[in-house]
Amino acid sequence: MEKIIEINSLNKISVIKKKNSCNHRNIEIDESKNCITCDECKQELNPIWWLARIAEQEQFYKWQVDLYEAKTKKINEHVKRKMS
Ligand SMILES: [Zn+2]
Repeated sequence: MEKIIEINSLNKISVIKKKNSCNHRNIEIDESKNCITCDECKQELNPIWWLARIAEQEQFYKWQVDLYEAKTKKINEHVKRKMS
């Protein structure tokens, strides 16, 4: 997350957090320093944050697979009923 500090004409200070456009999908692990770095943007990442993000994505994919399996089962049962 990048922070941009703006000072307008009334000397009012605003801090704007600009979301990093990189998704940090490819990382490099440095076991000697216990740190990870994004291969694309070279930002050092918090390993706990990154693991939590991966776990969240895995859970999302599992829900998607479960949903498709349930839909497939329902369609197959419907087709079986129609064919019998
Ligand atoms: Zn990145």
